[in-house]
This record gives sequence, C-alpha cells and structure tokens, in this order.
Amino acid sequence: MSTWRGEAGVLREIKQPFSIEEVELLPLDPTRVVVKTHASPFCSTDVKNWKGQLYKIPPTVLGHASIGEVVEVGSAVSGLRVGQRVVVPGTPECGACYYCSIGEPWQCGELFDLGGIYPDVARGDDGALISCAGCVGGYAEYMSISGNQVFPVESELPSDVLSMLGCGISTGVGSVFNVARVQPGESVAIVGAGHLGLWMLQAARIAGAGTVVVVEPHEGRRELAGALGADVLVDPGTGAGESEALAGALAAVREATGGRGADVVLEAAGPAVSQSFAVQASRRGGRTVLTGFEIGGATLPLPQVETALQSRRILSSQNGQVHMKSDLQRYTGLLERGLLDPAPILTRRYPLAELDLARDNSAALTDVCGVIVFDH
Ligand SMILES: [Zn+2]
Ligand SMILES: [Zn+2]
Repeated sequence: MSTWRGEAGVLREIKQPFSIEEVELLPLDPTRVVVKTHASPFCSTDVKNWKGQLYKIPPTVLGHASIGEVVEVGSAVSGLRVGQRVVVPGTPECGACYYCSIGEPWQCGELFDLGGIYPDVARGDDGALISCAGCVGGYAEYMSISGNQVFPVESELPSDVLSMLGCGISTGVGSVFNVARVQPGESVAIVGAGHLGLWMLQAARIAGAGTVVVVEPHEGRRELAGALGADVLVDPGTGAGESEALAGALAAVREATGGRGADVVLEAAGPAVSQSFAVQASRRGGRTVLTGFEIGGATLPLPQVETALQSRRILSSQNGQVHMKSDLQRYTGLLERGLLDPAPILTRRYPLAELDLARDNSAALTDVCGVIVFDH
C-alpha cells in the first residue's frame, strides 16, 4: 500500500478562502481506488456549498465531478486497473442497493443514504480528518473514490473537456434524452443558460427539437445561447418589478410556442421563482424538468390550478438519470463528433492555487464553467 500526499483545496471554514494545503490520503479502504486528478470543473453548486447553503461539513474537499488516472486499486475492487483513465461523476452506481437493483442508479444509496455525512479520506498536517464532499473531493491532486464511482473512458479528448461529463454533461444532456425524452419537432424552453442550460440546448438540437426558447437574464449568456442555435431569446429581467418581468417572459414563451407554452421546459437556474416560472411556461400536459436548487430547506410555490388541473408533468432529474456504464461513452462520442461543443461552456482553466478565483468567477457569472486543471 502506497502513501499518497498532494495538494488539496480544503474548505476549512464556510465562506472563508479555500486552504490550499498538503494532505495525505488515509490508508486505502479495500473497496476504494486512488485517482490522480487530471481536471475537475468548478461547478456553480460549489458556490452554494462554500456559502454553507447545502449542509456540507468542513473540513472537506469540494468538487463533485472529475477525471483522472487510477494509481492504486483496493483489494476488493474488480474491473479496474492502475493506469486507466476514469471519469468520476457525482453519483456512484453500486449495483446492489434498492435503487440500483430497480434500474435507477441515479438515486444510488451509496451516496444518498449517507445522510450527507461523507467519508473521511485524508488528513491535514495539523491532524484534521478531511472528508470528500459528495464522495468525490475533486479539488485535490489525489482522490480516494469508491470503486463504484469511477468509470473508464476511452477518448483522445483532453481531460478538461471530459471532466465535465460527470456533472454538467450528464445532468444537462441526460435531462433532455432520459428525463424529458424530447421528441423531434417538440418545442423546448430552457430556463437559465449556464453550464447546464447550454448543454441542454445542444442536446435539444441533437434530439431534433422544434422551436427552442431560452430565458436568461445575463446578456452574455443569451448571446452564447443564440450562437448555439436558440431560436428565441427572452430576457426575464432581474430585481425590482420581478413579477411584471416574469409575466412578460411567460407571455414571450407562449407567443413563441403557438400561444400554449412549450411542450418541454428544462429548468437550470436554481431559484424557486425560476422553477415556478418553468412549470407555468409549459403547455397544458407539458413536461417540466427541474434541475436547480438554491438552499437546503427551500420550498417551491406552484400555482394550484395549472399544476393540479392541467395535466402538467413535473420531473426531477438528478444526474440526468444517466446509467454511467452505458451513457458515458455515448456522450463522449457526441463530443468527439462535434455534436456537443464544449468551447462556449469551458470558459477558463485554473490551477488549484486559484480555486478562490474560480469560485469568484463562477459566482459573478464571469465563467460559464471554469475547470481546475492539475499539472502533475
Ligand atoms: Zn455540479
Ligand atoms: Zn446503488
């Protein structure tokens, strides 16, 4: 058994700068593998985690998706070998829990039955035990990961691009293909054109969607959506006069979709008001996929008549309901063939030392998606 020491960006205290420090992985559990990290996207969810909105407990390493190379395999892990390039997504597939056995691995108990208490994987030089948030801990040179949460990938594409497979691509693309199951010609409205929304837009085009409307307050992101093939761009406005602005945006979505509302609405914004808007922007009997969340304990206000009497279907996504073992290589193929374009989404690359800057640029919406890259 080897000793793995490397730098990690540790969340020592909520809302304080990340501590970039040397940590040592704990001796490897037989069910886990050590992955030398190549790249981890700085997901906007980690802005919320840094602010303490989603119950993460310091000291912990954030970063819930990654890609790297297996450098040690626990004695009880089969099917993986040292040297393999693997995607580490935000969700494991244990194959044995209730959810995996009924074919719904995106709710795998190995993650969701932990109750938010993640395993300790490393020790700081001060002796502190450090956990891996979401069971990944991608903002570190080495990760200790369950053998059920690493998936080999074969591709010539660079790791900064493939690192996005485990969160943005799986959730965005999977929401279109697996959850909404967009049919050719269906109208689609996308609420929020960040890293999820822009993947959704590209997937909707691949699925043969008809009119695609994108609702997004940030001008630069509306421009990106336009360049990626959105037919109608709607600015819902922000701040004062919100309800009037949302009414105007709702009218704009309906006008673009035969006066009815969209067949499919994909929500990728987060605030409860955006989710309520998304449901109302669907037609009677339409489908709305919700992917965003803002703060633990928040609730969702929905209009009663539209929700109860008009046959709307509200669908929850969670990692795009992907089966990593079968979907990962297909989505990689879409990237390789240029059908999914990472260029408008992967805004900037950061060394680990600039983790605070990556967070600030995510929070300020300067980046659609920054990626932390490791140069071993
Ligand atoms: Zn994420
Ligand atoms: Zn499972």
